[in-house]
Order: sequence, then structure tokens, then C-alpha cells
Amino acid sequence: MRLTVVGCSGAVPGPASPASCYLIEADDAEGRTWRVVLDLGSGAFGALQRYCDPLEVDAVAVSHLHHDHCADLAALHTYLSYHPDGPGETLVYGPFGTASRIDELRGEGNRTRALTMFAWQAGTPVRVGPMTIHVESVIHPIPAYAMRIEGPSELESRAQAVIAYSGDTDLCAGLKKVASNADVFLCEASFLDSDDAPEGMHITALNAGRVAQQAACDRLIVTHLPPWGDPNATRLEAGTHYRGTLDIARPGMHIVV
Ligand SMILES: [Zn+2]
Ligand SMILES: [Zn+2]
Repeated sequence: MRLTVVGCSGAVPGPASPASCYLIEADDAEGRTWRVVLDLGSGAFGALQRYCDPLEVDAVAVSHLHHDHCADLAALHTYLSYHPDGPGETLVYGPFGTASRIDELRGEGNRTRALTMFAWQAGTPVRVGPMTIHVESVIHPIPAYAMRIEGPSELESRAQAVIAYSGDTDLCAGLKKVASNADVFLCEASFLDSDDAPEGMHITALNAGRVAQQAACDRLIVTHLPPWGDPNATRLEAGTHYRGTLDIARPGMHIVV
């Protein structure tokens, strides 16, 4: 599988990055490339077009319905409905209420066939080509899911690879479950341990590193720093407990697993 960070700014888009959006690509045995987009936050739809034609996106997997994770689903709907090479159709997996959220964002309810919605059910995996997406409920002020994407590895040393994504969450069992033995763990860290962080909203960089270490993840990519965040302090704190390869997400980052 191949992971591209399209957008990684937390809470709002920043001057250097759109809000949350990650492109995962995997080739099947026949050589067809399958594409899953994890979240489509504010500002991400423009940047996504640098990496693929949105008509070629097979599924969008939405962690939760805060605008920094789903606002550009409205843009995707418009693109697929009106592009001269279309109309296109894409599957959208998200929390219950994703369809009405998109209608609100669009300002009208007469949706075309461009987006077909499915509600996540924890414990029921979803298959997209050669990839399988598992979700777990996590702790956030609104219903939210962390994801575990399993698919073919492009490394000779193994057959399967795992990419885990926290979405937005405080420390919880669901997060630990998706991260277990992941090759890459994309984990948010909106707060530092020194912040007076409210409970039940976001995880700290310290705990992101702790989860990655306990879950034996090969690589931790800390993401969802708000524009006012401190990348250096975040890296330092995440590395307190984590001993693997540690990065701070940046737009355009491309990783092959
Ligand atoms: Zn967020
Ligand atoms: Zn959120």
C-alpha cells in the first residue's frame, strides 16, 4: 500500500496544509489501483487533485463529522456530478448522519448518485478492492471512529501491511486496538501533556507515543497539529515513550508499506 498525506492540519486548515486527508492506494492481483481517501477535511479537495483524479477514488472513509474531517465531501459531490468526464460515483463510509451532513454543506438535499453512503458498524469490516477497513469507536465529543486498513504490502519481506489512523480521539481502547502491530500509525496529537487539555476530546503527544510503543507500531506519524501547534515540542514529547521511527506529518509525505 502507498500512503500520501494530502492534508494534516488539525482543527482548521493552516497556511501550509489543508485539514485532515490521507490517500491510500493499493494494487490488486490484476494490476488495478484502488484508492481510499481517509477524511476529506476543509481545503483538502483541491490538494487531493495533485495526487489523483477524484473520479478514480473508490471510497472515502470518514472518521467523524467535524468540518476539519468532512467539509470537502460537498466539493467531491459537485466534482463527481458535473465533471465533463463524469458523472462519477464513489462510496462514502462514515458515522450515521453523514448523508444529511453533506446535504447541509451543499445547502440542498437533491443529491445525485455521485455519493453512495454507508454507516460504519464497529466489528463489521469493509472491503475496498484488496484493502480491508476495520473501525473502532473512539472517544470524541461526537461519534468518531479510528481505522485500521489492511492490504497488500509492497515490501518483499511481507505479504500484508497495516496502516492505522486515529481520527480524532482521546486515549481509549479502540485506539489501541486499531494500532496493534501497525506498519504505520497516523495518530493525532492536538495537545501536549503540559496543556490544560480537556478530557474526552483529543490525545496528547505523550500518549500518542505511549500507544504506539505499547502497540509495537513500526512507524508513528504524529498528525492533526493545529496551526498554533509546536512541532518540535510535539516530536520531543511523542518520543518520550516511543522508540520506533517517528515523524511529524507534512503535506505530500509519501510512504510505501
Ligand atoms: Zn479534527
Ligand atoms: Zn474532531
